[in-house]
Amino acid sequence: MKKLSLSLTIGWLYPELMSTYGDRGNIFVLKQRVLRRGFGAEVIEIDHSTTGKELSRIDMVIGGGSQDREQEIVISDLLKKKDAIKALFDSGTPGLFVCGSPQLLGHSYMTGDGTKLSGLGLFDMETIHPGAGKPRCIGNLVAEICDDMRYARGGMRKTIVGFENHGGRTILGRGVKPFAHVLVGNGNNGNDKTEGALCNNFIATYSHGPFLPKNPHIADYLISHALYKKYKKNIALKALDDSLAWNAHEAVLRKCGIVI
Ligand code: GLN
Repeated sequence: MKKLSLSLTIGWLYPELMSTYGDRGNIFVLKQRVLRRGFGAEVIEIDHSTTGKELSRIDMVIGGGSQDREQEIVISDLLKKKDAIKALFDSGTPGLFVCGSPQLLGHSYMTGDGTKLSGLGLFDMETIHPGAGKPRCIGNLVAEICDDMRYARGGMRKTIVGFENHGGRTILGRGVKPFAHVLVGNGNNGNDKTEGALCNNFIATYSHGPFLPKNPHIADYLISHALYKKYKKNIALKALDDSLAWNAHEAVLRKCGIVI
């Protein structure tokens, strides 16, 4: 019987404008982890020329971070794509959005100079940058993943590690859960100990780094959900040698004084 050739298409939001903090590494990790399981992997770079039809082919959506200026450029085009991105969100397509990109998926983002950008409103959250004169949230970030996600994938390691660099402070509304609970660092706003957001299968995080090389469990969460949604069945992922990734993860935990 011919072996079913499985493949995933990864949509990468505005690579030329939203990879300021090395977040393109997340794309490399996802593509390699898909290929190393023997599946096909295609990356579609999403920009102003990407059509709704192309967006509908996407199995995972990935967005990185950027400075306010690039966010103002991106949002003008992203709003034109709202229906297509919302269709992916509503249908359970997994996504990972770091810092500047999820700020645009909430209700609004107020930039450092006071410009209020309307967001796509997918995440029930608001972000306000307090202004250039106020301290930015910069440093190592360690957080404990929320229960919903951990129970969805039994045995998942419970920490995530990253590096944050943002001015915006995000407040979550009632319609969204945090991705994780801050152990070290600021997370969404440096006050309420929430880090990121989780809604449907869209994950928002403030963790740059890039994030996925030191958090292979989150990469496989995204891949598993993408395969399930596309092929309508649980497809086991062959275990990979993640010793280097976990060594890096645990080095950050030790550096931050976290013992798990
Ligand atoms: N410009 C946004 C802020 O300062 C996002 C920064 C980022 O993506 N790291 O909060």
